[in-house]
Amino acid sequence: MEHVFFEDLKDKICVITGGGGVLGSTIARGLAAAGVVTVILDINEQAASGLSGEITNETGVRSYGYKADVLDKASLEKVQEKILAEAGEVDMLINGAGGNSPGATTRLEQITEDDLNRLDEGFFGLQLEGFSKVFDLNFTGTLLPTLVFTRGMVTRQKGVVLNVSSMNSYRPLTKIPAYSAAKASINNFTQWLAVHLAKVGVRVNAIAPGFFLTSQNRFLLVDEKTGKLTPRGEKIIASTPMGVFGDPDDLNGTVLYLLSDLSRFITGVCVPVDGGYSAYGGV
Ligand code: NAD
Repeated sequence: MEHVFFEDLKDKICVITGGGGVLGSTIARGLAAAGVVTVILDINEQAASGLSGEITNETGVRSYGYKADVLDKASLEKVQEKILAEAGEVDMLINGAGGNSPGATTRLEQITEDDLNRLDEGFFGLQLEGFSKVFDLNFTGTLLPTLVFTRGMVTRQKGVVLNVSSMNSYRPLTKIPAYSAAKASINNFTQWLAVHLAKVGVRVNAIAPGFFLTSQNRFLLVDEKTGKLTPRGEKIIASTPMGVFGDPDDLNGTVLYLLSDLSRFITGVCVPVDGGYSAYGGV
């Protein structure tokens, strides 16, 4: 990454929720390489503090790691005080905490005539608890950190929010209705907030990653026993014109661009980073 393109990012302070996860940690490393002071928030304290320690040691750029729950406003407000005292004013927020869960996933892709005696393996087997858990983590888990961390940006009339949506926000993937609906709501919220804050210097955008093999989706894409792609994994590769899963590092160029002044006239967009998946009609 050529730092010179993102010179304005140097020494800015960026909070990354879910920063201890696969994509969040790669993004944090990419930001540190551009001189950004990273604040890693994660419900997994060890992941957050371990990563911030590594980043500081490896790059010499300040990095902080704290435990915080994106579903608990009081926990976010408490950590905000620590951030202000130890790191400084927050310039940028990446809402990275999110994910799917087996509890909100149907076994059947579609219900056919042959499935009428096992309807609970499809839509009818979904429990509100599983559905709400995934919806809350992705939507409320973006809303609350945004409420807490953008107030200071608005007061200073400068700041950037970057939400993490998904390819399935445009067209839902089979089996994961809660995750798809929640990510669609992220795109809508990104546009709403972008308009709301446009006159006070705060930009709000999103990225929609395509398919990256990580802990949250491995159980759907790779057979645990054989290590081979599941039929679903094969379908995804066949639907991705570039023919591979993404490498988390592939997100970093877009993330840096959307955070930096290079995109200063861009707000309210969701950029697909997906190897062409969203452009391909399948034929
Ligand atoms: P991940 O599971 O590796 O990381 C998610 C992180 O969020 C974890 O470190 C977890 O501890 C943390 N977290 C969970 N609940 C939390 C809470 N209540 N408060 C604070 N932190 C919490 O997942 P990932 O693949 O790195 O995904 C990161 C984001 O990218 C998610 O929003 C996900 O939906 C999105 N995404 C991922 C893919 C993919 O292919 N992996 C594709 C599209 C979008």
